Amino acid sequence: MGLANAHYYATRDPLGAAGDFVTAPEISQMFGELVGLWLADLWARAGRPSAIYAELGPGRGTLAIDALRAMRAAGLTPPVHLVETSPVLRAAQRQRLPDATWHDDSGTLPEGAPLLLVANEFFDALPARQLIRTGEGWRERLVGWNGTAFVPVAGEVPMDAIVPEGLRDAEPGSILESAPAAAAIVGDLARRLAEQGGAAILIDYGYDGPAIGDTFQAVRSHAFADPFIEPGTRDLTAHVDFAALAAAARTEGVQIFGAVPQGAWLERIGIGARADALARAAPARAAEIAAARTRLTAPGTMGQLFRVLALVAPGWPVPEGFA
Ligand code: SAH
Repeated sequence: MGLANAHYYATRDPLGAAGDFVTAPEISQMFGELVGLWLADLWARAGRPSAIYAELGPGRGTLAIDALRAMRAAGLTPPVHLVETSPVLRAAQRQRLPDATWHDDSGTLPEGAPLLLVANEFFDALPARQLIRTGEGWRERLVGWNGTAFVPVAGEVPMDAIVPEGLRDAEPGSILESAPAAAAIVGDLARRLAEQGGAAILIDYGYDGPAIGDTFQAVRSHAFADPFIEPGTRDLTAHVDFAALAAAARTEGVQIFGAVPQGAWLERIGIGARADALARAAPARAAEIAAARTRLTAPGTMGQLFRVLALVAPGWPVPEGFA
């Protein structure tokens, strides 16, 4: 999954109508603006320290552009650090954020100053691990080649010891997912927040696990596709287990808020007021703005499945939108 996604993102810009999928910042400027204002509000109440803006997997840089514009209006103009592996998307980001600094992974983000970090639809793209309950107990689910196609196969090593006790007797065929790569990054982020100060906002589609279920999926041209066919040509994801991410952060003493549904969070932090202001400024676009707000917040679209988790440094104020 890691290898296939590295090739996938390295060879294309997958975002937008002509690509494979559309993300919240590409739907409306309101999304990035509200993320930026959320960070700026927290930063202001923390005493306006000299801070760094960082983003994991910034795509086309749209969220960063919108967030930084909103931050500037609030008096916050941080240096920009982007974690991005794709050369194609780095080039797109460089066009819009020429003064940014790029990183291959979050491990080289600057130490020392408070971090204001954003990750939207980043963790779902990291490799997931699956265990499957067989007649003989739990095994890792591996990928094999049967001569003509990639197929999922059960490994030979018993894995029962790492399955939560309450799930060990699940039906044969049951699948349990985890995301060690995501947990490792969140653990490192939490350590940095504890040391450096700041906050991280992580937004993705997901659930609070552990739970039985297979969420490994591929998307191509805005439709679900077979994840085992032509790896590297389609977007591979797994839903994010926010309880597991929170657990990875909890060991470091940071404050954890959420995960809450994206729709409720955006409504609480003022997407209604922002939509009204935009519609007043551009009455001809009022219907389009209202439709974008609905798409971002309604339960049937992105409002409920997408969730928002905030990690806040010890001693920093309570963030908006989670009460
Ligand atoms: N946040 C953007 C893009 C989401 S797509 C948006 O909301 O529109 C996922 C992003 O993560 C892309 O920029 C992709 O190139 C990047 N990415 C995927 N796997 C990565 C990895 N292992 N390390 C760094 N970036 C990665």
